Amino acid sequence: MGLDYEGQWLKRQGYLRAFDLTQSGARCYDPRFMEKIVSLAKRRGFVFQSSEIYGGLNGFWDYGPVGVELRKNLKDSWWRTMVQKRDNVVGLDTSIVAHPKTWVASGHVENFTDPMVDCKKCHHRFRTDEVTGKQCPECKGELTEARKFNLMFKTHVGAVEEESSIAYLRPETCQSIFTQFKNVVVTSRQKIPFGIAQVGKSFRNEITPRNFIFRSREFEQMEMEFFVRGAESSHWYDYWVEERFQWFLSLGINKDKLRKRVHDKDELAHYAKGCTDIEYQFPFGWSELEGIADRGNWDLSQHSKSSGKDLSYFDEEAKEKFVPCVVETSAGVDRTFLVLLADAYHEEKAPTSEEGKEEERIVLRFHPRIAPFKAAVFPLSRKLSEPARRLEHELRQSFTTDYDDAGSIGKRYRRHDEIGTPYGITYDFESETDQKVTIRDRDTMKQERVAISQVKEYLAEKLKGA
Ligand code: ATP
Repeated sequence: MGLDYEGQWLKRQGYLRAFDLTQSGARCYDPRFMEKIVSLAKRRGFVFQSSEIYGGLNGFWDYGPVGVELRKNLKDSWWRTMVQKRDNVVGLDTSIVAHPKTWVASGHVENFTDPMVDCKKCHHRFRTDEVTGKQCPECKGELTEARKFNLMFKTHVGAVEEESSIAYLRPETCQSIFTQFKNVVVTSRQKIPFGIAQVGKSFRNEITPRNFIFRSREFEQMEMEFFVRGAESSHWYDYWVEERFQWFLSLGINKDKLRKRVHDKDELAHYAKGCTDIEYQFPFGWSELEGIADRGNWDLSQHSKSSGKDLSYFDEEAKEKFVPCVVETSAGVDRTFLVLLADAYHEEKAPTSEEGKEEERIVLRFHPRIAPFKAAVFPLSRKLSEPARRLEHELRQSFTTDYDDAGSIGKRYRRHDEIGTPYGITYDFESETDQKVTIRDRDTMKQERVAISQVKEYLAEKLKGA
């Protein structure tokens, strides 16, 4: 696949690896589309390469001013849906570095590994499953035997760097939910069935970070562990698979591009009864966004055994003590973010101010609830900046808004189409006399004249339920 100038530039900057761009077959439908998303994300301040001025750091990303708003909206939506709107799920925020015994008990020290091979010629390192039966992507060098590679980042706690001070950056957020289970039960007075949820950073030293923010080395997870009696776990498993699927739909994601993939028996961990992935049809193929698993009581039992602490639950009504089973829901913030960008991205022809002429526009059709800005205010001329700013400041108290007075109105519309702002409000010279502004709808591009005193109500009505 040839690369145009922009593609070459993105590749040089490390935004895309050659592997992503040259990979062929069912997993790679449209590499050009991915380039467009990455380029837009940088151009408009959604995502930048980490440490870009130093040449970047592979597998790490920074979220820009527009990106942080989108990210926050998506995490808020998850938190409201999973914790605040339910009376049987509580939140938790635990440290990134936990006692190293945590990762021995969970099996990560022993088993959190990927088999990897090196190319003897170009010295690139690949996950074995990525190159099995395929050509080594950039050269045709011979591959080494597969070796185990632990994906946890190691660090040292304290001043002395010795074996006993080794600790790990957590590779998933859920283990501390298990280790804090007893404290949460006692303080929250929750009764089984109930859940503990957490949103936070995780770290995995992925051998081949790729596909932009899809697989990175530092990422964020939204996880929930729902504690149940063993006999009820299948019921809750089915319940959470459906709930989680509905959440993605509530973000406005195209239903046809989402699917549930039930794991085959041979894919399951030995202790798990079932696992379903929610997958999205990314530009590079169907891939996991979230996993929902019926995990039995493996996690609590392991930590109980390893710590010597009793992590069982006492049911006061039934006068019965048992180690609860758990149904886990585990989603990625960054992967969901990528889905929101890819799913909202549209290119279309739009009329221009010149009669009969059309131009291409890029528009992100975000659901208004998650759009970074709900409205933007544009003064037609800088001479009108004072009243326009006043209006924007007033709206800012109720909605996330932006003020933009740079370039032609057409350019400003385009900029806000590209960051998915649902409403563009133009303050023109007539506004001075009729006390009205023009509000343009991002999707239909229809314009309406609305009294300045009514703009707040107008937006509130349009964004109702969002
Ligand atoms: P994969 O098979 O794609 O490596 P996984 O099955 O190892 O994913 P889990 O351990 O189930 O992933 O993690 C739960 C979620 O965390 C994933 O569905 C994904 O959304 C997110 N996630 C996992 N690894 C990464 C990563 N390297 N970069 C970004 N998000 C990730």
